[in-house]
Amino acid sequence: MSIFAKTKTMFHLPEGMVYLDGNSLGPLPRAATARVASTMTDEWGEMLITGWNKAGWMTKPTEIGDRIARLIGAEAGHVVLGDTLSIKVYQALASALDLNPARKVILSDTGNFPSDLYMAEGLIASLKQGHILKTVAPEDVAEHLDDTVAVLMLTEVDYRTGRLHDMAALTKQAHTVGALTVWDLAHSAGATPVDLTAANADFAVGCTYKYLNGGPGAPGFIYVAPRHAEAARPALSGWLGHAAPFSFHLNYAAGAGIERMRVGTPPVLQMAALETAMDIWDMVTMDAVRARSIVLTELFIAEVEAACPMLSLASPRDPHQRGSQVSFRFAEGYAAMQALIARGVIGDFRAPDIMRFGFTPLFIDAADVHAAVAVMADVMGNRLWDRPEYKIRARVT
Ligand SMILES: *Cc1c(COP(=O)(O)O)cnc(C)c1O
Repeated sequence: MSIFAKTKTMFHLPEGMVYLDGNSLGPLPRAATARVASTMTDEWGEMLITGWNKAGWMTKPTEIGDRIARLIGAEAGHVVLGDTLSIKVYQALASALDLNPARKVILSDTGNFPSDLYMAEGLIASLKQGHILKTVAPEDVAEHLDDTVAVLMLTEVDYRTGRLHDMAALTKQAHTVGALTVWDLAHSAGATPVDLTAANADFAVGCTYKYLNGGPGAPGFIYVAPRHAEAARPALSGWLGHAAPFSFHLNYAAGAGIERMRVGTPPVLQMAALETAMDIWDMVTMDAVRARSIVLTELFIAEVEAACPMLSLASPRDPHQRGSQVSFRFAEGYAAMQALIARGVIGDFRAPDIMRFGFTPLFIDAADVHAAVAVMADVMGNRLWDRPEYKIRARVT
């Protein structure tokens, strides 16, 4: 059995469903149910407060951080879990701005996920130091990197189109003009090989409920390059990032290295679920995942273009220019996606007209691609989406 045939058996995938939305919320690892149950009954239930030491709850954020580090090319001891990705964006950006105090421009792009931009706006308003957020078209980022830029803040893989930024080249150019970088790996971690060390990235953040399969509400993570680890000042100076949380000093003193990026109590049950997903990640290399992802996305594009000429490819055609998702534009994309979902092909819709499909080799294979395209051909060719009930927008799309 190939390694991916084996990993596929390790997830619960509902009967009759082709799940092409692992880029938004990964599926349930089969082992998670029992692991979370035993964390509840054997640890929380029996150990109560002693679980923090006895069950190692307190050190899980860096332990799991090290397992994620392998997937994103980070040095061990420089990734920690906690909070949500939006919070981690705020922390990374605040620390980076603080390390580059003479400059006021945060450069980002219009393909960035809105929450990252909103957090930057909120931070600017709190700092009141005259920072400005400049967003330019993704392809124009390089030409706007100049000596006014304090921080280049980008999401490596565009959540709508899957377009991949060149992290190494942009980081190098940012450093040349004296800017620091914050890379958001929300659609990279577990999707494409990332090498933060080789790229010389300064800060990186990401989440664990998308490709990493940690479950709804799984914590975010943050990376601080070793050269900044003892210099970065945490804006969110919570007690668990303190050098001595249990001394209960009245004044804050930042903890050693990445520990200072912790804020408060970690989500123990959610980390128990995530650990079972990390057990699956430990079985594969990102190079193998990437090779398989490219095979699947190329197959999907070829089959969809042959069967559904009314859809136009919104993702880069060159697989090396995109992450692990494929998007198509269609004016009635929302209704079309609802019609697919009603028939067990799960993708999602991103305004204004993007139908998005994630490819996750741990549990998606070529047979799934064929099955999904057969349903798409029927829905699109026969206009099965053209019904009023498919046009009612739900709260979460
Ligand atoms: C998914 C995603 C988020 C979501 O942040 P949460 O705080 O975890 O809800 C933020 N930024 C990017 C780039 C994302 O893709």
